[in-house]
Amino acid sequence: MSDEKTSKVSGFYKLPVEKRVEIVKNFSGLNEEETKLFSSYLDMEIADSMIENVLGIFEIPLGVAVNFLINGKDYLVPMAIEESSVVAAASNAAKIARVKGGFKTEVSDPLMIGQMQLLHVKDAATAAKNIIDHKKQLLDLANQQDKILVELGGGAKDLEVRILDSPLGKMIVTHIIVDVRDAMGANAVNTMCEALAPMIEELTGGKIRLKILSNLADKRLVRAKTVFDKEKMGGEKVVDAFLESYILASIDPYRAATHNKGIMNGVDALIIATGNDFRAIEAGAHAYAAKDGHYTSLSKYHKDKDGNLVGEIELPLAIGIVGGAANIHPKARLCRKILGVDTAKELAEVVASLGLAQNFAAVFALSTVGIQKGHMSLHAKNIAVMAGAKGDEIDKVANQLVKEEKVKLDRAKEILEKIR
Ligand code: NAD
Repeated sequence: MSDEKTSKVSGFYKLPVEKRVEIVKNFSGLNEEETKLFSSYLDMEIADSMIENVLGIFEIPLGVAVNFLINGKDYLVPMAIEESSVVAAASNAAKIARVKGGFKTEVSDPLMIGQMQLLHVKDAATAAKNIIDHKKQLLDLANQQDKILVELGGGAKDLEVRILDSPLGKMIVTHIIVDVRDAMGANAVNTMCEALAPMIEELTGGKIRLKILSNLADKRLVRAKTVFDKEKMGGEKVVDAFLESYILASIDPYRAATHNKGIMNGVDALIIATGNDFRAIEAGAHAYAAKDGHYTSLSKYHKDKDGNLVGEIELPLAIGIVGGAANIHPKARLCRKILGVDTAKELAEVVASLGLAQNFAAVFALSTVGIQKGHMSLHAKNIAVMAGAKGDEIDKVANQLVKEEKVKLDRAKEILEKIR
């Protein structure tokens, strides 16, 4: 790498692990202690404090995607994932996106929604009015629950009341809108909902049942956009083939689910690497994909006037750099340092860009050579390991499997026996 700080690294995948670590160390200014974390495991005491009934640690590989340029800043993007090809595909997509200036993003305020479900009121309209009339008192009470958030400029900002028809009759659902700043916000919002429940019951004479945040965080949206250079893609015909493939995801939920899974390959890998709640992100993303009444693609593509491919993505991202596991897990802190992000907003910008890159890479491969070619060459290494290959044997067996276009366990065992 040159002296200038860039995430563009050619042949990163060919380097030995130690050399890769050195590049990341230099790029992100990691100290010796932080660098050692790559080959260490989560302390049992920390694990035991995180969940119940702990028995041990479950490891998945941590890699880094290269070439990312987002809003003019270079990023090495840590990815915790067990599936082969994903990191390579993201790096390749980011390389193509860099040619026309990389990714550009927009982020809304970090607004989360908390829900309070009210039942057994005599008259729904009167109850709803009583809640709205006491909006200020309710917001004040909510903000007393989290002084830190309020001091940071966040806190409860608004209140909305919805009347829903249900098999139990009219149901009133009050939404509290909370600016959670750099947190994911679930605990913060849940605490507020629980604090407001008695006051809402008193105001309405009803009974609050559920009081919890909504994972459909549609007021906390991130958009990423980029232009994929047509020449780097192999010409305008390839762009057209890409668009033909994409269209199916826009009209058909069977394809949209797989298309969006490809987006989540990238999104989840970074969400996990930064100690965030991937179930919350998954739930929010898929619910948002169905926001217009039918499940569709989270990304959109079109051709610009010069024939290049323009890709856009919009999704809700309830992620934090404080709270949850983000600060408890040493590797999550390390991954944030690798990224060099100081706010949840900036982390969301990288996550959305990565999701778009990942999606592009999958559709690009599908609309040209198909994914199995690239996937299988990486998968061959897994098969070689499964067959019992060690050290140098892994590459030898994997290369032979790919050459024969027969990535199968029985064949891997035969090749291994022959080598030995
Ligand atoms: P948290 O409660 O651990 O930390 C957030 C708190 O940190 C804030 O309320 C604030 O008081 C403080 N804080 C300090 N500096 C801050 C800053 N710069 N910005 C914002 N807050 C700051 O974490 P959380 O984010 O409220 O909750 C996240 C956890 O809740 C995750 O572990 C998640 O898995 C879990 N959870 C999720 C759900 C769900 O998604 N449905 C439900 C319950 C719990």
